[in-house]
Amino acid sequence: MNNLLDYNLEELTQITLNLNQPKFRAKQLYNAILNGKNFGDNTVLPQQFLTDLTNANYQMQAVKIHKTVTSHDKSVKFLFKLNDNNLIEGVLMKHSYGNTLCVSTQVGCKMNCAFCASGLSFVKNLTAGEILGQVVAVNTWLGGSVTDRKLTNLVLMGSGEPLDNFDNVVKFLKLVTDDGGFNFSVRNITLSTCGIPSKIEKLADTGLNINLAISLHAPNNEIRKQIMPVAKSFSIESVLESAKYYTTITNRKIYIEYALISGVNSETKHARELAELLAELNPKVNLIPLNEVKERGLYGVSEAKTNAFLRELKKFGISATIRKSLGDDVDGACGQLRNKELKQNSTKIVEKQKNSTTLQTSKNASNKAKNTGFNENKNKNYAKNKLNQKNNKSFLSKSNKTSKSLNKNSSQNKTKNTNKNVTKSSRSKKSF
Ligand code: SF4
Repeated sequence: MNNLLDYNLEELTQITLNLNQPKFRAKQLYNAILNGKNFGDNTVLPQQFLTDLTNANYQMQAVKIHKTVTSHDKSVKFLFKLNDNNLIEGVLMKHSYGNTLCVSTQVGCKMNCAFCASGLSFVKNLTAGEILGQVVAVNTWLGGSVTDRKLTNLVLMGSGEPLDNFDNVVKFLKLVTDDGGFNFSVRNITLSTCGIPSKIEKLADTGLNINLAISLHAPNNEIRKQIMPVAKSFSIESVLESAKYYTTITNRKIYIEYALISGVNSETKHARELAELLAELNPKVNLIPLNEVKERGLYGVSEAKTNAFLRELKKFGISATIRKSLGDDVDGACGQLRNKELKQNSTKIVEKQKNSTTLQTSKNASNKAKNTGFNENKNKNYAKNKLNQKNNKSFLSKSNKTSKSLNKNSSQNKTKNTNKNVTKSSRSKKSF
């Protein structure tokens, strides 16, 4: 199956021409998929074109809204179902300046940060169309269209590490900023990364110039290594060096994400250390009250402690704010809603299995009773089975012999080949 949301207008034009439709149909198709239309919905597209697309295994939409949960603060948590039945999350945050959608870029995540439920498992990278599909689904859900967009800002902060899915994320960014499509301004898009220096520099070189947020969460390498395994591969210094490169090339301010975790990184001495570390980069720090992750046993800090941390940063001239924690009453932290759904589903499966085991046990019991009458036949069959076993045994011993001789030949060949290779390599070494 190929998803049409994975393609830009140029690629859709090629698909349209290949299906013997006039070029202008490509733009109509582009508008239809960005407006959330699916096969069977009312569109201006001719039936023959839709039939040909179906026959060529194309899908019009990449995600469906599976569940929504609205928080007391009006933010809405979405559980999306992909066409392959995987589940991902998104959050719609309503601000005075507009609607921000937080999208996922992977199913799960490989980075395994201690404070995050998404890192508990990794399934796959999302395609560009599967990321765009989240924007299409929520914009349509809000009553918007491609020409009357109801979403103003996008943040790539949901499940997954966006830079670990670099090509698909870059393609998504190109699709979503396309002036013939949703035409989002790059200024209104923020990508959040746990900090992969080479990829941050590569992103700077794409010329996309979106905002960059770095999930730092620690004032030094020791603490960072305790809560973010990625810190074992890349030091804080190398991450901040790449951030400096990013801001020089793109002229964008860097945002530093810092979740305050009780007993880990939230003392005022940590604030002083952080201020010193960031003095040269001059970023904006977002302090995040942690949405507790029960699975990991990590908890946030009090409001007083958060304010004390903020005051200390400001004292050292660092621009910082406390980010409102949205949706904490609806499993707001990334990965939590998905994990809850997966757990519920697996409980349902276990319950189903339990029920079917109970059913099976009672079936077995009644079969036992019935089978008592079959013992006579069983005895008759015994002789037959014995004979079969005898025949099987002689077959097995024959096949073992064959496999032994095959192994012998193969090990002889292996020795021959190894000798050959050694000669080859010593020859090539010589000639080198
Ligand atoms: S915080 Fe981000 S990078 Fe870390 S595990 Fe969660 S989704 Fe992955």
